[in-house]
Amino acid sequence: MGNLRTAVLAWLIATTENRPFRLRIDDIDAQRSTAEAASRQLEDLADLGITHDGPIARQQENMPHYRAALQQLQDAGMVYECYCSRKDIADAQRAPHGLSGRYPGTCRNLTDAERDQRRADLLAQGRMWSLRLAASEDIEGEWAVRERVAVAHDPGRNSGEFRGEVDDMVLRRGGNIERADDDAVDDGAGGHADDFAYNLCVVVDDALAGVGQVVRGDDLLTSAPRQAYLAHLLGLPDVEYAHVPLVLGPEGRRLAKRDGAVTLRELPGGAREGMQWIRASLGKAVDQSFTSDATTPPAAILAHMRDTFDLAKLSREPVTWR
Ligand SMILES: [Zn+2]
Repeated sequence: MGNLRTAVLAWLIATTENRPFRLRIDDIDAQRSTAEAASRQLEDLADLGITHDGPIARQQENMPHYRAALQQLQDAGMVYECYCSRKDIADAQRAPHGLSGRYPGTCRNLTDAERDQRRADLLAQGRMWSLRLAASEDIEGEWAVRERVAVAHDPGRNSGEFRGEVDDMVLRRGGNIERADDDAVDDGAGGHADDFAYNLCVVVDDALAGVGQVVRGDDLLTSAPRQAYLAHLLGLPDVEYAHVPLVLGPEGRRLAKRDGAVTLRELPGGAREGMQWIRASLGKAVDQSFTSDATTPPAAILAHMRDTFDLAKLSREPVTWR
């Protein structure tokens, strides 16, 4: 229900601003993304009356474009190999001058001999290095994005802009080499299976689909400056963001399975009940006087919401389920 509320908001903002509404299945993580989960989500959207424009995009179909984007950054000399384990990075962050959450740059300036040694060490453990972006010193570790929602409650920053941290982010993940005889490790210099980082993928995906606005949960707000910086480096158009509050469970954490019946199909009243809850959760952003009953199709409730929607009146506070 949390994700569906965000989807309804994305649809409302797009349609009231006369933008096409694009649908993409983020299945870059093949182990966590199943075709069944994707079709369930598409069914839920259809049951709510959410329509979309153009074909449904899938990240698995964009792999050649991710490779090309990585190559573009490599050609610009902005990519380096990182041999650190999670523990290495955590240890560096605990050091006296460590900056929490930020990659400390351990592998940015190694000599060729050091790199040879670290590669050999990792390969002997059956592991592959990751590739990181060498972020320009000029940006001083920060980048600004256009933000429609998340900054509006912060008077000191009420400028339609969110500025956040950019570090030497991972572009292609390392990790265990699954099959030792895999020709993925052919030259010892970055032929690892294409485990591209989400930050790189979404930037490429958005540009391919002509996305001009991204509406999503505000747990991703701090990723936006990283993604926008990558788009800038790749010469792609910048997008505006609207990071909307999350739906929380009764314990104040992000709504999840542990909170009980939290999916559309688990609600006794199904899609209609789900849509009525979403409408109520939007408060003053939509007209609440519209009466619906057991015979009102969800799409009719949604259409009324669209006709009365006002993003400026959307509460910036998280919403609690039930
Ligand atoms: Zn490293």
